Amino acid sequence: MGIDLKRETEATEINQITEYINKVLNVIEKEEITEEDANWITKETVDGFREHVNPGFLSYRKTVTKDGQFAAVEWSDGGSCFKDVSGKEYIDCLGGFGIYNVGHRHPKVVKAVTDQLKRQALHSQDLLDPLRAMLAKILADITPGDLKYAFFTNSGTESVEAALKLAKMYSERTTFISTTKAFHGKSLGSLSGTAKGMFRKPFMPLIPGFRHVPFGDIDMMRKTFETCAMVGEDVAAVLLEPIQGEGGIIIPPEGYHKQVRELCDEFGALLIFDEVQTGMGRTGKMFAADLFEVVPDIICLAKAFGGGVMPAGAIVAREDVFKSWFENPFMHTTTFGGNPLACAAAIATISVLLEEKLPERSAEVGEYFLSELRKAAEGHEDKVLEIRGQGLMIGIEFHKDEIGYEVSKGMFDNGILVAGTLINSKTIRIEPALTIRYDEVDKVVNSFKEVLGKVKA
Ligand SMILES: *Cc1c(COP(=O)(O)O)cnc(C)c1O
Repeated sequence: MGIDLKRETEATEINQITEYINKVLNVIEKEEITEEDANWITKETVDGFREHVNPGFLSYRKTVTKDGQFAAVEWSDGGSCFKDVSGKEYIDCLGGFGIYNVGHRHPKVVKAVTDQLKRQALHSQDLLDPLRAMLAKILADITPGDLKYAFFTNSGTESVEAALKLAKMYSERTTFISTTKAFHGKSLGSLSGTAKGMFRKPFMPLIPGFRHVPFGDIDMMRKTFETCAMVGEDVAAVLLEPIQGEGGIIIPPEGYHKQVRELCDEFGALLIFDEVQTGMGRTGKMFAADLFEVVPDIICLAKAFGGGVMPAGAIVAREDVFKSWFENPFMHTTTFGGNPLACAAAIATISVLLEEKLPERSAEVGEYFLSELRKAAEGHEDKVLEIRGQGLMIGIEFHKDEIGYEVSKGMFDNGILVAGTLINSKTIRIEPALTIRYDEVDKVVNSFKEVLGKVKA
């Protein structure tokens, strides 16, 4: 009797779950949603975040938005914009932390992924998969210098992990130098390179051997190399973002990367460029390495690599370095890395970047954007400390965090998404699609000017 009763409740519960799932699938399927759908989606989203995702996100949203806008629920995207469920459009200047270099859902990327999906989604894991080989060849062609062999990942942090392991295996050394304000990801290995104490402290000890030196300070870098050599802890590699993204869009002094390259050569260390954010045209060149005219030994990619359609990442290394993994290609692996859908997306993304000359466009539009923002900030020196950038990687640094929050709030109200950087919340970033139109840039600048006029210093 008891058992039957339990079975019955289980059956009703399963019915309820299936009913809910069907409702969700039905909403996914819809091309247009009604106001009733929108209300249901918003309620389910807010409740779901509160009860099952993490209520902290709701509190965070309340600090960066006005009135009831914390509950804005995103629903669709295209070009430089995304829309919420109620149909309000936002110009996306956060760009998903820099993933939408070719824009949101670029038709060519979507087509390559859908075409591939119709044939095969994931790979067998055993036979030779064609797109991985083709993408690796393309990468060898477009990356700087003699970078030649690629290993594929699903995210930025995984690319950094792969680079660290490769550097250890190649050098048989375990010391790494990274920099203050660096961001390399949050898995335990990459977190060791990341600089912000708040993100690191609860997880210590991280992997041993990491030294942090101030970004841009070549003398400290040299001293650290020398000290490490003296105490028998020779440096395996320097891990560096060519331009720091999450640290607040920080551009190093002239000649810094070339000097770091020289130090690495002098001490027999590898140079790893973490171009997860600066890569794929963001800074006005295909890679920031091209901008600084420095060839690293390993380059890390992700974010925009999958064209804003698929999660995808990669490292590309010199043959001499990558050779460490020839004998046993299973030394470092990932099940999903380099899957056919991700490779199709990355190949189409590179095609769009080249065909539409997006790196060049990024340089051109970025210069205009930067100078217009600087003009808009004239007379507000009490609020704005500095506006800096390279290509379409632009940071606006305020004197206080609060001013940054108020400006983001006001601009969000005007239909523009901007946000602070992870390590440095005094700086908001502007990292739109490299396809952003000039009239959209003007709209962002006008909104910035208007909002800046209203907030208090
Ligand atoms: C975002 C970022 C990462 C981490 O990428 P995830 O895909 O979030 O793991 C690593 N390095 C840099 C420079 C980044 O900007």
